[in-house]
Amino acid sequence: MSNSTKRTPPQAYCAKCGTIFRSISAVNSQCSTLIAGKRCKGWPRSAVSVGDWKECESCKAEGGLRVPCPDCSSGYHLARKRV
Ligand SMILES: [Zn+2]
Ligand SMILES: [Zn+2]
Repeated sequence: MSNSTKRTPPQAYCAKCGTIFRSISAVNSQCSTLIAGKRCKGWPRSAVSVGDWKECESCKAEGGLRVPCPDCSSGYHLARKRV
């Protein structure tokens, strides 16, 4: 246990629009992101392997828990290539 305010890494992402999902359950349904008023046609993929995510350097993976981060919303950036 630690006192770190780091978030845990996200668990899924949409390869089409790049949305990051914090819950693996996102892979069970079509991406819910709206693009220009239309629902994204992408399908979230799981990304739960070591190396799939790298910590945001701006917020050290806090992802706005203490102060909003201009670079991320989740504290992490996708490290693997979107496929
Ligand atoms: Zn999407
Ligand atoms: Zn950040």
